Amino acid sequence: MTQTLPFTRDFAEELAKKFPTPFYIYDEKAIRQKAREFRAAFDWVPQGGFKNFYAVKALPNPHILALLKEEGMGADCSSLPELLLAEKAGLTGEEIMFTSNDTPAAEFVKAKALGAIINLDDITHLDFLEKTAGLPGLLCMRYNPGPLKGGNAIIGKPEEAKYGFTRPQILEGYAEAKKKGVSRFGLHTMVASNELNPDYFVETAVILFELAVDILKTSRVKLEFVNLGGGIGIPYKPESSPVDLFYVSRGIREAYEKIIVKNSLDPLRIVMENGRCVTGPYGYLVSRAIHQKNIYKKYIGLDACMANLMRPGMYGAYHHISVLGKENAQSKEVYDVTGSLCENNDKFAVDRPLPEVTPGDLLVIQDSGAHGHAMGFNYNGKLRCAEFLLQESGSPQLIRRAETVEDYFATLSGF
Ligand SMILES: *Cc1c(COP(=O)(O)O)cnc(C)c1O
Repeated sequence: MTQTLPFTRDFAEELAKKFPTPFYIYDEKAIRQKAREFRAAFDWVPQGGFKNFYAVKALPNPHILALLKEEGMGADCSSLPELLLAEKAGLTGEEIMFTSNDTPAAEFVKAKALGAIINLDDITHLDFLEKTAGLPGLLCMRYNPGPLKGGNAIIGKPEEAKYGFTRPQILEGYAEAKKKGVSRFGLHTMVASNELNPDYFVETAVILFELAVDILKTSRVKLEFVNLGGGIGIPYKPESSPVDLFYVSRGIREAYEKIIVKNSLDPLRIVMENGRCVTGPYGYLVSRAIHQKNIYKKYIGLDACMANLMRPGMYGAYHHISVLGKENAQSKEVYDVTGSLCENNDKFAVDRPLPEVTPGDLLVIQDSGAHGHAMGFNYNGKLRCAEFLLQESGSPQLIRRAETVEDYFATLSGF
């Protein structure tokens, strides 16, 4: 899918007069629309029980968390600072899911104090949590389906993942937690990421629904909710299409009727923890071409680098690139689009057909609203850039300023 940009070259040039490039722009209207699509797709879930807990790691900015809260989303946190971001954004109690692993005690203590839903990653964490923060009334546990009996073509190789409880452990975990006085329970799994096959999410629901039945039979625990995790992918490439949430919802509903209703486990709430698909397509990294060099290949050098967006350099990920003012021009050139790190993988695109670029042009790197700014770093003395919310009114709101050299020096002793 290629998208029409929600702003023009004039808009970006105007902004760049006051705030030097590079910077991120997030499209408020489109983010709100996506959140509403989730609500509409899952409105059948009993007791208005559907909620997506936005995975904070995707775009850890409280302005974004606060607007998602207005649209009915919660926050999925995995560290102390992420819990604090959710708190600052006005999220409270069970609007916060704490899905961590290898968790430090202080993080459990904070999650418990906030009244967040704690999602345990391991059976030994039951004792660890009891000794450190004390056990809460509601507890979720993370299931790792491992080498599924009979195999599963859709869900890859969960046995390679470090997360979660095995099947015998999770059955024991619920029984043990119940003995210790926990009275409300959830069940979670998350085994893939950036998945575009909608059947994958239906399959995940089936696995959890069937396990919910086993948990009732074996551990005498009736679950209050299942958490299908996140991982809904986005169409980074022009030829891909987005996951149809209504198709996913219909498939999950059928499984719900067949497994949950039939086994008298109704009502069971259904929640998710998607981050990428909520904000990813609606974030744009705006950067200026500052150099062009022709050696064995043609290069366009930007004022952004891998420290602003590391996905292409780290995973060879595709991000669509537009040249502002030349959106409809033919792609007559083939360039590597680079940043300035002293690392040859600091490239936003390799062999990319683009309209002719001249230094001074603004380029927009699309689908950067998740795991973009969030993965920023300071290697090579690079500073993280500013973030703007393109408000529904059409005006930009600065939601994070750019780092300065003073910020870079702030943690050094004696300089
Ligand atoms: C990363 C992560 C998510 C969100 O994944 P997306 O790909 O952003 O949807 C949700 N839950 C857990 C436990 C995660 O680690």
